Amino acid sequence: MKNQYDVIVLGAGPAGLKCAEELKNTNLSVLLIEKNKIIGPKICAGGLTQLTDGFDYPKDKTIIFNKLDMFLGTKKYEISMNHPIRTLDRYELGQYMLTKIKKTKNISILKDTLVKSVEKDKIKTTRGTFHFKYLVGADGSASIVRKYLGLENKIYLGIQYIIPKQYDKMKWFLNPKHLHSGYGWVFPHKKYTSAGVFFNPKFLKVDKAKEVLNKFLDDCGIDYKNATYEGGPANCLYKGIEFGNIFLAGDAAGLASAATGEGISFALTSGKEVAKKIINPNHKTLELDKILKIKQKGDKRLDFMDRVHLFQNILLRIYLNLLKSSKFQSWL
Ligand SMILES: Cc1cc2nc3c(=O)[nH]c(=O)nc-3n(C[C@H](O)[C@H](O)[C@H](O)COP(=O)(O)OP(=O)(O)OC[C@H]3O[C@@H](n4cnc5c(N)ncnc54)[C@H](O)[C@@H]3O)c2cc1C
Repeated sequence: MKNQYDVIVLGAGPAGLKCAEELKNTNLSVLLIEKNKIIGPKICAGGLTQLTDGFDYPKDKTIIFNKLDMFLGTKKYEISMNHPIRTLDRYELGQYMLTKIKKTKNISILKDTLVKSVEKDKIKTTRGTFHFKYLVGADGSASIVRKYLGLENKIYLGIQYIIPKQYDKMKWFLNPKHLHSGYGWVFPHKKYTSAGVFFNPKFLKVDKAKEVLNKFLDDCGIDYKNATYEGGPANCLYKGIEFGNIFLAGDAAGLASAATGEGISFALTSGKEVAKKIINPNHKTLELDKILKIKQKGDKRLDFMDRVHLFQNILLRIYLNLLKSSKFQSWL
C-alpha cells in the first residue's frame, strides 16, 4: 500500500462514502479510512426525509410512511405528509454505498484502521502514517479532524432502543415540560423498531430522557423489554467546510439539524460538495447553501422555542394543528 495520496477521506459514514464516490474515476488517488471492520452500522434511527430524494440508496430496503401520529403530551394529531419519510437500516445504506466505490481503480479502502492523529499534511493511524494533499474529515460528531482545526462543537444527544419487533406506525412525540425542545420518535424498520429521544443536554439529563421515553412507550403499549439501549452525539455547530487543504463534511462539519437530529441528508450533500470543491476549487457549493438554509431555519425555530419555553405547549398546539394542512407543510 502507498503512503501518499492526493485525497484522504477519513470516515466511511454517508459523508465519507459519498465524497469518495464523487471522486471516483478522477485522476486523484483517494484513500478512504474507516476504524470499523464493517461499514455501515451507526447509532441512528435511519429516518430519511425528502432532502435525500436526489440521492441513490436502496429504496427496496426502506419502509415508506405517508402518515405520522404526532403526540403533544397525550393528545394525538394525525398528520398526512406531503413528502413521505422512509426508514432505512444504516448497515444497508453503508453496504449499498460501498458497492459504488469498491473495485474502483483510484480508490483504496482501509477498514479496521483508527486514525490517531492529524497533522497539516499527514495522519498517523494504527496501520502507519499516510501523507495527503487534501484531507476530508468525515469522521462524525467526535471528529479528530475538527479537533485538529480547533473548532468548537455544539453537541445534542440521541438515545434509542432497538426493539426486535416491527410496529406499524411512525410516531413522534413532544413533551416540552420534560423534554424541553427535544422530541421522541418511534420509527419502524423492516426487522426492528427504533424508538428514541433527541435532545439538548443543556436542558435535560440522559436518565430523564430515558424515563420520558419509557413512559411514552408504556403508554403506547410498545414492549422494549428485549431491546438494545444505545446513544450517541450529533454535532450541530456549522463553521464551514473548507479550511485550506483540509475539508469537513457531515457531522464533523456540525451539519446535523439541532431541531430534528437529521444528519444523513446533510452528510450526503456535504460529502458530494466537498469532493466537487477538491476537483474544481472554483465550484460554487449551491446545494450545500440550500440545505444550510434549511438547517439554519430549523435551528432558529428551536432557539426560539427554547427562549419561550413557558409558552411552548400552546405554540406547539397551534403548530401541530397547522401541520395538518398540506399548504403549511409546503411553506415549511
Ligand atoms: C440516536 C440518533 C438517531 C439519529 N437518527 C437519525 C435519523 O433518523 N435520520 C438522520 O438523517 N440522521 C439521524 N441521526 C444523525 C445521523 O446518524 C448522522 O448525522 C450521520 O450519521 C452523519 O453521517 P457522517 O458520515 O457525517 O458521520 P458518521 O455516520 O458518524 O460516520 C463517521 C465515520 O467515521 C468513522 N471514524 C470516526 N473517527 C474515526 C477515526 N479516528 N479513525 C477512523 N475512522 C473514524 C466512524 O467509525 C464512522 O464510520 C441520528 C443520530 C443519533 C445519535
